[in-house]
Amino acid sequence: MPGQRVAVVGGGNAALCAAISARENGADVDLFERAPFDLRGGNSRFTAGAIRTTYNGVEQIRELMPDLTDDEIENTEFGEYSEADFFDDLGRVTQYRTDPDLAELLVKQSFPTLRWMRQHGVRFLPLYGRQSFEIDGKRRFWGGLTVEAWGGGQGLIDQLTQIATTLGVEIHYESRITHIDRNISGFELSINGKTSRSFDSVVLACGGFESSAEMRARYLGPNWDLAKVRGTKFNTGDGIRMAQELGAATTGHWSGCHAVAWDLNAPMFGDLAVGDGFQKHSYPFGIVVNANGDRFLDEGADFRNYTYAKYGSEILKQPNHLAWQVFDQKVTHLLRDEYRIREVTKVSAGTLEELGERMNGVDARAFVRSVQAYNAAVEESMPFDPTVKDGRCTNGLSVNKSNWANRLDSPPFEAYGVTCGITFTFGGLEVDAETSVLDEQGDQIEGLYAAGEMVGGLYYHNYPGGSGLMAGAVFGRKAGMNATSV
Ligand SMILES: Cc1cc2nc3c(=O)[nH]c(=O)nc-3n(C[C@H](O)[C@H](O)[C@H](O)COP(=O)(O)OP(=O)(O)OC[C@H]3O[C@@H](n4cnc5c(N)ncnc54)[C@H](O)[C@@H]3O)c2cc1C
Repeated sequence: MPGQRVAVVGGGNAALCAAISARENGADVDLFERAPFDLRGGNSRFTAGAIRTTYNGVEQIRELMPDLTDDEIENTEFGEYSEADFFDDLGRVTQYRTDPDLAELLVKQSFPTLRWMRQHGVRFLPLYGRQSFEIDGKRRFWGGLTVEAWGGGQGLIDQLTQIATTLGVEIHYESRITHIDRNISGFELSINGKTSRSFDSVVLACGGFESSAEMRARYLGPNWDLAKVRGTKFNTGDGIRMAQELGAATTGHWSGCHAVAWDLNAPMFGDLAVGDGFQKHSYPFGIVVNANGDRFLDEGADFRNYTYAKYGSEILKQPNHLAWQVFDQKVTHLLRDEYRIREVTKVSAGTLEELGERMNGVDARAFVRSVQAYNAAVEESMPFDPTVKDGRCTNGLSVNKSNWANRLDSPPFEAYGVTCGITFTFGGLEVDAETSVLDEQGDQIEGLYAAGEMVGGLYYHNYPGGSGLMAGAVFGRKAGMNATSV
């Protein structure tokens, strides 16, 4: 509605999409970002910009990326990713707990939302580096994740900020919303606990509670206060708390989160200069051992996209909350670029015995015994193929590897030290498919909407890679649109 005053709380992808959407629908929009300008953009800015969307083949990819050359199209197998595929992936990894209404909104609006972003000028590229391998001279995509934002998370935030500003959204940095009052004429927002402003409707898009050690320990459980935070330090659960004070209901997997293998010596919060480079996601091609020298998870259970988000918590459970990923020369060329950054905890050696000695905190002799047992159990009759679940497994171990098993026998060997890095939390506000925040009775709190990480009910146990940015954009766009019609 023209002249509607909409407040958007947050500064990441979800908030910016909400602000753009509300503004294009005629509202006067103020966006309040807690972070200073230099640290703006929330977790969204830390991402590589990988976005999971449905697409029915190369034509829809070309719609998102009109700059693709004929050569790129000729030499790439993009495949397709249908609504059924996305539903299946969400269902399977969440153990069929994902909220069907929210899942439907995410899946069905994924491509239309990227098309909308593209129409506003956001540029996309094929995610060649991380999601494709060269097979017989052609790049072949795998794992249903094909699109990235131009310039990664930084580029995405810059582009969305530019679009929002051009449309006339007022962006306020260093503006933490600390309290929200609801009255007959709308909402009164306290900014930094000092000033206040009135609005007709509010979109909350200010992240989960992953950056609060106290809330992590309270909801995720013991030792989660020790996990490293992969992204922004500003997502401390404010939005969830403020909505609860207004009577909002919560839902979802409150003791669950997205957490990955993260460099052992990374700082306690994310470093924008390194971005997501502290993650170590090539474990499907090697083995992972704990301080006792034991393997403790199936490195090849599935494509990395469907295991990485739950393996951080497996590492947190290990002695001293650490692990080492070990590779030999047969696969080091497959390691992702994050293994070659300067800020990496890496050791290498010509023998397994020496490697074990160099892996700080690991029982070296037990490690060598684990590798011997693993090597003896590799079933080599299947050819190794990183683009499919190749079934090349181990047999007879207490923890088997289901795919991509190769003997560790080609020195020099390399090992990378990791711990648990938390990305975002799964529990959050209860919203309906209109993105309206619900109260304890299940009724909409009129004028209050939520989007992004702070929405509960989409993810349980695990998460399909690239869904976070997509959900933020889909729910943000919808929330911004609905917030203008109160
Ligand atoms: C290292 C890393 C890599 C990732 N890679 C990917 C990827 O490639 N693809 C993908 O889909 N997802 C990825 N994710 C997950 C993704 O970042 C999130 O799912 C998504 O960005 C969430 O968007 P959001 O807008 O909800 O939250 P955020 O982007 O975190 O934004 C929340 C904002 O709220 C602000 N805020 C907090 N409290 C207040 C307050 N009281 N007042 C005002 N503002 C407040 C914060 O400053 C922040 O700007 C990654 C995350 C990390 C940390």
